Amino acid sequence: SNARVGFIGLGNMGFHMANNLIKAGYKLTVNDIDQTAMKKFSDCGISTVETPFKVAESSDVVITMLPSSSHVLAVYTGQNGLLHGGSQVRPWLFIDSSTIDPHTSRKLSKNISQCLLKEKKGNADRPFMLDAPVSGGVPGAAAGTLTFMVGGIEDAYLAAKPLFLAMGKNTVYCGGPGNGAAAKICNNLAMAVSMLGVSEALALGQGLGIAASTLTNIFNSSSARCWSSDSYNPVPGVMEGVPSSRSYDGGFSSKLMAKDLMLAKASAEEIQQKCPLTSEALNIYMEMCSKGYESKDFSCVFKHFYSGNHN
Ligand code: NAD
Repeated sequence: SNARVGFIGLGNMGFHMANNLIKAGYKLTVNDIDQTAMKKFSDCGISTVETPFKVAESSDVVITMLPSSSHVLAVYTGQNGLLHGGSQVRPWLFIDSSTIDPHTSRKLSKNISQCLLKEKKGNADRPFMLDAPVSGGVPGAAAGTLTFMVGGIEDAYLAAKPLFLAMGKNTVYCGGPGNGAAAKICNNLAMAVSMLGVSEALALGQGLGIAASTLTNIFNSSSARCWSSDSYNPVPGVMEGVPSSRSYDGGFSSKLMAKDLMLAKASAEEIQQKCPLTSEALNIYMEMCSKGYESKDFSCVFKHFYSGNHN
C-alpha cells in the first residue's frame, strides 16, 4: 500500500506493530520520546521525527500505542501534539490502540471530529478517530496475530481494516466511539480475575499435595480450563515459552494490569455498577507492584498465593 502511516509509541507492543506495517509495505514515519526506541528504526532507514505534530504533518493515517490516557492526551492535545495548531490537520484517520478509559476515548473522538482536513479525502472534510485496543500481548504483536476491538464510525473501521490485518488476524467492530476501549477493559478485568482464580486454586492444590502440572492437566480437560490455565499458566515449570517459565520476564506487566483494573473500577463507579472482584483484583495487583513486581508479567500474581518451592 502507498498510504503514509505515522506510528507513535514504539514500546513492547508498538515496536512489533510498526515493523509488521513496514513488512506489509506501508511507508512509516515514527516517533517515541525514548531515543533508543527511535534508533532501532532510524538504523533501518525508517523516517523518525521529533514530535507527534511532525508525524501528523507527514502522514495520512496515524496510529498511537502509548501506556495510558495521560500519554495519549499529551500526544494528541499537548504542545507539538498531533492536533497542534488546532483546526486543520493532515491525517484523515487517527487510530489509538492504547488501552485507555472509554471516557477519554470518547472525548478525544469528539475533539477530532471538530477538526477539518487540510486536504479533502473523498467526500470527507473531517478526520475520523477509532479506538482500537488489542489483545494478544507481545507474542501476538510480534507474530502479527493481534485481535483489534474497534469503536468509532463503521466506515472508518472498514477503511482501516487492511491496516489492522497487517498487524493482527482478527478485528471486531464494537460500535460507536469508546466501545473498543470498553471491550478491552472488560476483557482484561475477566482475565485478571481468571488469573487470580487459577493461581489461588493451583497454590491451594500444591498446599494439599497435588503438583501444579497434574492439577493443570485436570483443569485443562475439565471445567476450570481457561486461557490462564492452558495458554499462560502462572506456575513456573508447568508450561514452556510463557513468562512464568522465565522468572515472569517479558509479557504484560503487573503495572499495566493494575492500570487496566483501575480503568475498569473507575468506569464501573461512573455508572454506579458494583465491581467487588475488580476491586479485590486491583488491591492484589497494587500489592504486587509495591513489592517490586511492577515490571514482571502479571501472572507473577501466583507468588501472592504461594511462596514455597515449585516442585
Ligand atoms: P510500553 O511502555 O512498552 O510502550 C509505550 C511506549 O510509548 C514507550 O516506548 C514510551 O517511550 C512511549 N511514549 C510514552 N509517552 C510518549 C510520548 N509522549 N510521546 C511519544 N512516545 C511516548 O507499553 P506497551 O506494553 O507497548 O503497551 C502499550 C499499550 O498497549 C498500553 O496501553 C497497554 O496497556 C496496551 N497493551 C499492552 C499489552 C502487552 O502485553 N504489553 C497487550 C495489550 C495491550
